Amino acid sequence: MASSFGSVFCGTQAVARYREGAWSPAVLEPLAPLALHPGAHGLHYGSSCFEGLKAYRHADGSVHVFRLDRHVARMQASADVLCLPKPGTEQLTEMVLSVVDAVRDEIPALPGALYIRPLLLGTLESVGAAGSPSTDAMLVVMTCPVGDYFAGGIRPLRIALEERRGRAAPGFGCVKTGSNYAAALRPVLHAKKAWKADQVLFCPDGDVQETGAANFLLIQEGAVHTKPLDDTILHGITRASVLELAPSLGLRVDESPLTVDELMSRSTDAEAALSGTAAVLTPVGTLIRGGYDHAVGNGQMGPVTKKLRESLMAIQSGEAPDTFGWLRRV
Ligand SMILES: *Cc1c(COP(=O)(O)O)cnc(C)c1O
Repeated sequence: MASSFGSVFCGTQAVARYREGAWSPAVLEPLAPLALHPGAHGLHYGSSCFEGLKAYRHADGSVHVFRLDRHVARMQASADVLCLPKPGTEQLTEMVLSVVDAVRDEIPALPGALYIRPLLLGTLESVGAAGSPSTDAMLVVMTCPVGDYFAGGIRPLRIALEERRGRAAPGFGCVKTGSNYAAALRPVLHAKKAWKADQVLFCPDGDVQETGAANFLLIQEGAVHTKPLDDTILHGITRASVLELAPSLGLRVDESPLTVDELMSRSTDAEAALSGTAAVLTPVGTLIRGGYDHAVGNGQMGPVTKKLRESLMAIQSGEAPDTFGWLRRV
């Protein structure tokens, strides 16, 4: 891919503002810098959250958004935790659909897609409001044409285990809020430098949680094993989709806690993968513990990871029937 994921934008954005207890109607406008007061709450006190979802252009030219309802619900849940004005279901849904419709001609063919990024930001103009919520907000939906995430071929990832600290502050792991990503940067940069790791898998007190921006799955003996949902991890919609899809491929689902010791002993004869909207499923080839490499299985993408990945992508791309009702036509 010529440019990195998410650095090229389509030409239209949708913007709505919340003031005096109500959302304004959304406006579709050319992509442009936003007018923001320098004292905006979200710039100082982290009152912001986002979503990331995709739309696909099928072979017949029709365009479909993947699991829009779930992404809308998750942004509303993030807004609740952050005490931000909550976008209405219809409002956010319509904003996404209208932007996708407006940029329809800019959506690349498969295996490319349109990456859709809604952002909710607290805009109360007060630097004295550290201890109170932002009563004003801005909701923006922007989009990026994205190419094949694995244009250079799929390279299994090197993942370093972080066994002391968690990824997010207590209660915030399930919120898609910017500060969580800033907080994960230093451990990731350290692991990159020290061990050439691609990502860090956060496992505080031995509990295998997730990486900085993807959920973790261990696949072995016909079962997909992953940690149950709680407030320490982001409730990934790719994760949920893989778990819903697994039984139709003859796989069992095991949503139970996974310890680092169990992971290490099982991984020599297993597959492991990260799940998320950007890359769907990415194989994990190596776990790095205490500075030492441990291959997961033979270190390559395993057959079950490949099958799950291809099955999910077939639904997204319209090559397989949408039996779960995951696609919303635009
Ligand atoms: C967005 C995200 C995921 C993946 O969620 P999807 O809905 O599958 O894209 C997983 N973990 C974190 C921390 C995330 O931010």
